[in-house]
Amino acid sequence: MTLLSPDPTRTAPKASIAAPDRAPDWVADGTPEPLRSELVALLGEDRVHARAIDIVRYASDASPYRMLPQVVLAPRDLAEMVKLLGYARRSRKPLVFRAGGTSLNGQAQTSSILVDVRRHWQRARIEAGGERVRVQPGIVLGRVNALLARHGRRLGPDPASSDIACIGGVIANNSGGMRCGAARSRPSMAPA
Ligand SMILES: Cc1cc2nc3c(=O)[nH]c(=O)nc-3n(C[C@H](O)[C@H](O)[C@H](O)COP(=O)(O)OP(=O)(O)OC[C@H]3O[C@@H](n4cnc5c(N)ncnc54)[C@H](O)[C@@H]3O)c2cc1C
Repeated sequence: MTLLSPDPTRTAPKASIAAPDRAPDWVADGTPEPLRSELVALLGEDRVHARAIDIVRYASDASPYRMLPQVVLAPRDLAEMVKLLGYARRSRKPLVFRAGGTSLNGQAQTSSILVDVRRHWQRARIEAGGERVRVQPGIVLGRVNALLARHGRRLGPDPASSDIACIGGVIANNSGGMRCGAARSRPSMAPA
């Protein structure tokens, strides 16, 4: 019987090469200090998403770009948002809001503090028999239109991303769409 000996040039492990888009080493420890402790003291632990997986998950949107935020925050109400804006002003750290994350040019990315304004901002109320709708900015446009459909109405902007894009993102991006003309492209909405 002939024993086969493996060819060492084929079986030797190849030196591992880091992927060109690998996250830098600091990400492994999550949000750096003292930022992490300051934000936990400000908003509470459950509003501060500081793990490596949070940072990597929110580093991409629908654009071809990637930017790693230092932390992702999910404030729940106006009082927390006011605290957060005060902190940003005092510490001179920019905040970037992220709603559906369907922007195509990196608008929902930052290397600073990313604020999730979708998760806890999804209330909507139809008023005046469907003539007016009072919404929070994190509700999905298609969901508002589904509520308005009972009254034979819809909002003007009509992006093809309506089932994911949220009202805040639609307004901030001045979104349009194939079926909306200039006369109907501006939503007329009061804050919720
Ligand atoms: C498949 C696909 C189809 C698309 N089709 C269209 C189209 O037909 N027409 C069109 O115009 N666009 C289109 N887009 C682009 C994009 O979907 C729209 O611009 C959409 O309105 C963005 O909404 P969003 O909730 O995803 O916002 P995000 O991408 O999360 O954010 C958009 C911007 O709004 C800001 N923002 C978000 N929430 C708030 C808030 N509460 N207060 C202040 N600022 C806020 C963010 O900081 C960011 O600058 C498409 C994208 C995809 C992926």
